[in-house]
Amino acid sequence: MPKISMIIALLCVTLFSAQEVSKQRVTDVLSTLASDEMKGREIGTPENDSAAIYIAKRFEENNLDYCTGNSFLVPFDYKGKTVYNVCGIKKGKSEKTLAFTAHFDHIGTTDQPGDKVFNGADDNASGVTAVIGLADFFKTNKPEFSMMFIAFNGEEKGMKGSKAISNIENLQTQYQNISALFNFEMLATVSKFGPNALYMTGDEFSDLDELFNAKAENGLKINPDPYIGQQLFYRSDNVSFVKKKVIAHSFSTVDMNSASHYHQLNDDVDIVDFDNLTQIINNLGKTFQKLTPKNFAPKYNETVNYN
Ligand SMILES: [Zn+2]
Repeated sequence: MPKISMIIALLCVTLFSAQEVSKQRVTDVLSTLASDEMKGREIGTPENDSAAIYIAKRFEENNLDYCTGNSFLVPFDYKGKTVYNVCGIKKGKSEKTLAFTAHFDHIGTTDQPGDKVFNGADDNASGVTAVIGLADFFKTNKPEFSMMFIAFNGEEKGMKGSKAISNIENLQTQYQNISALFNFEMLATVSKFGPNALYMTGDEFSDLDELFNAKAENGLKINPDPYIGQQLFYRSDNVSFVKKKVIAHSFSTVDMNSASHYHQLNDDVDIVDFDNLTQIINNLGKTFQKLTPKNFAPKYNETVNYN
């Protein structure tokens, strides 16, 4: 092949194929969200707004479209204040959509002496980093599925943000097109199933995990929820969409029996396994790239409770 066409071919591959996300990028995004400057991202604070704006900028640099209105910031009212969810869309070849979500708010600060900031590196800067990482991954690629990326606010105060955005009238048609919603919740540590593995809440309610695992890249595996008695499926933002009969599960790596950082001051960047998180994000991206409305149409069975 003459040199010039080789260069053009290479350029095309770089421009139009999906892009692996670097560990440096994952570290930068997570560390910014979990920095002391963000003061624990509590809903209703200026730092919570700063986190929303930071996420919106990442959506913008990934060339996403607005979900509604003329901004990635989707306002709602919290105790008389205007607060924001963040929402972006990527058009794929089909109207059918995969949704990637994570809550970005956390529990703020404490007046106790010593460390004052609940940084929430695992809860849930890690989940938001996965959402942004997937937007990065598909930046220069037109996937089969359309993709919706949402960072929810106010999860820590009773899933306020996901409730608000799930009820926005002019998004209902979009929601009806969602084939599956992946809500990421605490991905910073290696799961009890080992590295490169997640578990899925409510796995008994749908065949999403089986369909995903059949296509999973590089040994990535979605495992059943090992903490079944804790009813995690009904305790996270996915449930706002379960109510709309959207296939919506939460995905996590956190060990609910032994983790000592849940809502503690030590949920800080030094507990994050960036190698494992980067590997998971890239393997999710590579798997989602292979999914099509034909090979991936998960369904609930009759045991799910929509309320
Ligand atoms: Zn939390």
